[in-house]
Amino acid sequence: MRILYVTPEVYPLVKTGGLADVAGSLPKALRVLGYDVRLLVPGYPGVISGVADLRPVAEVADLPGAVSGRLLFGSSPGGVPTYVLDAPALFDRPGNPYLDRNGRDWPDNHLRFGAFCWAAAALGRGGLDPAWSADVVHCQDWQSGLAPAYLALGDGPRPATVMTIHNIAYQGLFPASTLSELKLPPESFSMYGVEYYGHVGFLKAGLYYADRISTVSPTYAREIQTPAEGRGLHGLLAGRAADVWGIINGVDTTVWDPANDAAIVARYDAASLERKALNTQALENEFGLRHDAHVPLFGCVTRLTPDKGLDLLAGAVPRLVELGARLVLLGSGASDLELAFREAAAAFPESVGVRIGYDEGLAHRIQAGADVILVPSRSEPCGLTQLYGLRYGTLPLVQRVGGLADTVVDATEPNLADGTATGFVFAEATVPALVHALERAAALFTDQARWRKLQQYAMSRDFSWTASAKRYGELYRSAIPASRMVA
Ligand code: ADP
Repeated sequence: MRILYVTPEVYPLVKTGGLADVAGSLPKALRVLGYDVRLLVPGYPGVISGVADLRPVAEVADLPGAVSGRLLFGSSPGGVPTYVLDAPALFDRPGNPYLDRNGRDWPDNHLRFGAFCWAAAALGRGGLDPAWSADVVHCQDWQSGLAPAYLALGDGPRPATVMTIHNIAYQGLFPASTLSELKLPPESFSMYGVEYYGHVGFLKAGLYYADRISTVSPTYAREIQTPAEGRGLHGLLAGRAADVWGIINGVDTTVWDPANDAAIVARYDAASLERKALNTQALENEFGLRHDAHVPLFGCVTRLTPDKGLDLLAGAVPRLVELGARLVLLGSGASDLELAFREAAAAFPESVGVRIGYDEGLAHRIQAGADVILVPSRSEPCGLTQLYGLRYGTLPLVQRVGGLADTVVDATEPNLADGTATGFVFAEATVPALVHALERAAALFTDQARWRKLQQYAMSRDFSWTASAKRYGELYRSAIPASRMVA
């Protein structure tokens, strides 16, 4: 079965969040299962320089916005065959893929990703690469949301389409006036089409036209069908409930494995957990924090947004310090949250270490060095940092939402007694609820024998991609009309 995996980000070439990690690992896992998966990625500078053996496949002259580009083909660092849409006028820009130097959306984002979707549809349908077409075009997030629309609205046979939501908060909304530039027919501007509250909605279009919809955890799949979490799309999603799948993300164990992690000071596994303390000390030294083996070192690696619940954590810092605990936080995002954490570090220099920015190596050092990884999100489609925490014996402390609810088992007395606990879960988006969970973690930490058992059980949980990749295979099969089924 031939799958075109359409993604605006892929680790390690371009990454702003978890989608890049998924795109860097799920296609590899699918290839191991025998699927002919190929990526399509926009030709950002880091992609053009990072994809090996790039060679031209086709000219693409008729992209939306009257832009022309070239389709290139090569091999991504993970060894996955990769198509690149090389259109310098759209993608040859420095920095963040979506934002200009001042942090504002690029004004032509509709054309940049409209062109990307157009190329995805053309390549998937066949003809662009004489040697390849897709059975399934698998789209990720709003940036690829128009591809199912272009395919459904075009003539002739087409591949099946799957639209995956990695985060429903980002929907790709543009003025109605962009319709013709995007080469969408006027009749598609309807609630039975691409229209979304008077705008062209890229994600809405994908959810309307795709044969199947998926998201990255079973709980989030349910949540987005409710008014509270559906961000206006709950009606459409609930109406298509039978087509909505929830498949939990996996961990790329070639990148995230404490036994083989080149970014950390001391490698370890479940049988050599005492070596984890060397990573803790190194992290304390890096941030000039007080050493104290009796209280946990909390870690947090995150985008700083209200959705991630970082305002709750900022509110809990004084109590965390009072408990004698320490915190290392790596993140960037909203300026008020950046300021709040900078101020916390200045107020409690021996207890709170903060790095504002994006640093892949430090993310690994925090996972290895912290005792607890904090994910207080108000909304979390799947979440990867808690999965990395489980693998690193760094117990996750999470809010009971989305994929966090599906992957972390609270250390309640019954769960501790039957050996199923893997972390700490709180149920309410309030500072006192978070504080209570921090206190429970600190209390359990004083019983090191029990803590060690929890760590070992957490590390034994299997969140590798194999099981989830098989589910994606089932999803693809369900999307392909029986007549086009490939054995
Ligand atoms: P989201 O996609 O919503 O940002 P996920 O938990 O799914 O959240 O994925 C986050 C990914 O981004 C993880 O790989 C995490 O380590 C990484 N990450 C987030 N912020 C930073 C940062 N400031 N520096 C380095 N890595 C980060």
